[in-house]
Amino acid sequence: MKLNTSFAELKQNTLFKLLSEILEEKGMKGYVVGGYVRDHLLGRGNKKDIDIVTLGSGIEFAKALQKKLKGAQPVQIFKTFGTAMIQWNDIELEFVGARKESYSYESRNPTVKPGSLEDDQNRRDFTINALAISLNRVDFGTLIDPFNGVEDLKNQLIRTPLNPEITYSDDPLRMLRAIRFATQLDFTIDPKSFEAIQRNVERIDIISKERIVVELHKILETPKPSVGFRLLEKSKLLERVLPELTALKGVDEIEGQTHKDNFYHTLEVVDNLCQKSENRWLRWAALLHDIGKASTKKYKPQTGWTFHNHEFVGSKMVYSLFKRLKMPLNEKMKYVQKIVMMSSRPIVIAKDFVTDSAIRRLLFDAGETIDDLLTLCEADITTKNPKRYEKYMNNFTMVREKIVQLEEKDHLRNFQPPVSGDVIMNYFGLTPCPQIGLIKEAIKEAILEGEIPNAYDAAFEKMKLEGKKLGLNAHA
Ligand code: ATP
Ligand code: MG
Repeated sequence: MKLNTSFAELKQNTLFKLLSEILEEKGMKGYVVGGYVRDHLLGRGNKKDIDIVTLGSGIEFAKALQKKLKGAQPVQIFKTFGTAMIQWNDIELEFVGARKESYSYESRNPTVKPGSLEDDQNRRDFTINALAISLNRVDFGTLIDPFNGVEDLKNQLIRTPLNPEITYSDDPLRMLRAIRFATQLDFTIDPKSFEAIQRNVERIDIISKERIVVELHKILETPKPSVGFRLLEKSKLLERVLPELTALKGVDEIEGQTHKDNFYHTLEVVDNLCQKSENRWLRWAALLHDIGKASTKKYKPQTGWTFHNHEFVGSKMVYSLFKRLKMPLNEKMKYVQKIVMMSSRPIVIAKDFVTDSAIRRLLFDAGETIDDLLTLCEADITTKNPKRYEKYMNNFTMVREKIVQLEEKDHLRNFQPPVSGDVIMNYFGLTPCPQIGLIKEAIKEAILEGEIPNAYDAAFEKMKLEGKKLGLNAHA
C-alpha cells in the first residue's frame, strides 16, 4: 500500500503552526499522535479529531491555545482523565499530557503517572496508532515511529507495540478495537495478536456494554461489516457479545435435506444492505432479521426445514438483546423490531400473484418503514443463480411499483381512520362501547380490501351500513 509520507502541507497548516508557536513560548514539547497521523499517511481525507500529546500538562497547554485560537470554544476539562478538549469550527482537538500507565486485573482504567513521549507511545493500542509528528520548532513535522508503524501501514497489519498478551489483557476493549480497525481499514490482524485475542476473550466481560456497542456500531458502519463479524466469530468474542448470532451457525441435515447456514447468510445480507443504505438501525435490523431462526428450527418430513414464527420470536429477542447491551429501548429499538417482525412479509407477497389488497395491508402495517423493509428484502436475495436473482429482484420492483400506484390513490402509509370514533358515537348516539371498534374495523377492512376508497364520504356510508347490521339506529 502506498503511503502519503509528505508532511509539507501539515507544516503549512496554520493550526499546527500556532500549536508549535505556543509550545515554544511555554517551553513545552508536543506532538500530534494517533488516528490523525495514521489517516494522513493512509491518505484517508482530513480527519476532524486531532489528538495532541504534550510533555507536561495537556490541560494547561489547551488553555493557552484557546486564548489564541480565533473562534475556539471554551476548553472542556476532563479531570479524571487529565485531558482537555477544544472544539474549533468542525475540528475537535484533544489534549493529553504524556503518561505512563499501569493496570490492575479488575479494571481497564489504569493508574497514570506523567511520562515521556516514549512511555506514551508504549501505552497505545496498535503500532499504527502510536505514530507521532513533532510540533516542536527544532524538528517540526518529523515523524516519530518507534514500532515500525509505517511498515505495518504499508503491510496493512494490526499489531500491538508491546506483548499482545499483556496489551489485550490490560484493556480488553483493544480486542474489539483491533477487529474494528481491521474492518474499517481492510487490514489483517497480526497472527500473534489474533492468537492473543483468542486467549483473552473472557476478559471482554470487564468492558462496559456501552463501550462494546460503540465498537459494534463502528463495525456496522463500514462498507463490509462481514469482515468484522467473521473475525468476532473466529476469535469467539461474538459468542460473548452477540450469542444470538453464533446460535445461527451451522447446517443440519435430516433425510438428506439441509438448510442454509443462517449466520453466513445473515452476513451476506448485511453486506448487501450496506451497499444500499447508511441507516445504522436498518443495518442492525439486517444483522438481527433471522435471530429467531435458531430456536424455531424444525424438520418436518413433508415440508423439510421450517422456522415457523421466527420473525415474531426474533422481534421479541431484539428487545432483550438491546436491553442486555444497554442500547436505547426507544423508537430505534421499535423500528428494528418492526423490520424484523415484518421481514418475510414482502417476500411472501412477491412470490405469489401480487394482489392490491395484499399490498394495501403491507403498506398499512409497515407505514413509514416500507421502503427500508423492501431494501432489506432485496438485500436478503443471496442466491448465486443469476436467473433466479433477476426474477426475485423483478418481483420486488413490481411490489414497489404497485405501492406507488396505490399510494397515489389511497394514502395508506400513515393510515388515519377516515371516520373517527366521535363521529360514530354522535351518529348512533352511543357512549364508548365495543360496537364502535367493530365499525371502525369494518371500515378499515373495506378500505384495505379495496371495496371503498380511503375517504370520508365512502367511509361514512359504510359506517351506516355496519351500524344497521349491528342493530343500531341513527340518533335523532
Ligand atoms: P478513530 O477516531 O478514527 O476511530 P483513532 O485512532 O483516532 O481512530 P481514538 O479512539 O480516537 O482512535 O483514540 C485516539 C488514539 O488514542 C488512538 O489512535 C490510540 O493511539 C489511543 N487509544 C485509544 N483507545 C485506546 C486504548 N483502548 N488503548 C490504547 N490506546 C488507545
Ligand atoms: Mg480519534
